[in-house]
Amino acid sequence: MANIFLKIIDGTIPCYKIAENDDYLAFLDINPLAEGHTLVIPKNETDYIFDMNDESFKGLFLFAKKVALAIKKVVPCKKIGISVLGLEVPHAHIHLVPINSVYDIDFKREKIKFTPEEFQKIASEISALV
Ligand code: AMP
Repeated sequence: MANIFLKIIDGTIPCYKIAENDDYLAFLDINPLAEGHTLVIPKNETDYIFDMNDESFKGLFLFAKKVALAIKKVVPCKKIGISVLGLEVPHAHIHLVPINSVYDIDFKREKIKFTPEEFQKIASEISALV
């Protein structure tokens, strides 16, 4: 069965899209640690990020860099933290999380709730700057 991120890539499941090209997609995490918490994924199916070939791996991080710079312009924060877990969804992805302290990127924290309108607003604002 296709993993949930493949369904987002093919449009079967909606997402709050931030940016996309032929190889990569960035969209808001639906259970965010912070406003602007974004996932960046390759469109090719790979579970473990370190199984990606070098070219795709580099491309993923360069794409994530562009997205992170745009998030930073929209969300007030000290830095954009980066994290790779992949324990829940078996499709390689990078978490980009606006942070002011290490606590802000603690995945054991309670997640923040946003309305669909709030998700859409922040996605549009970041997307416009990528
Ligand atoms: P992990 O695999 O441990 O890195 O966690 C997967 C992340 O994907 C979690 O932060 C989830 O909130 C997020 N996630 C799962 N399903 C969706 C979805 N349909 N749209 C956006 N984010 C999702």
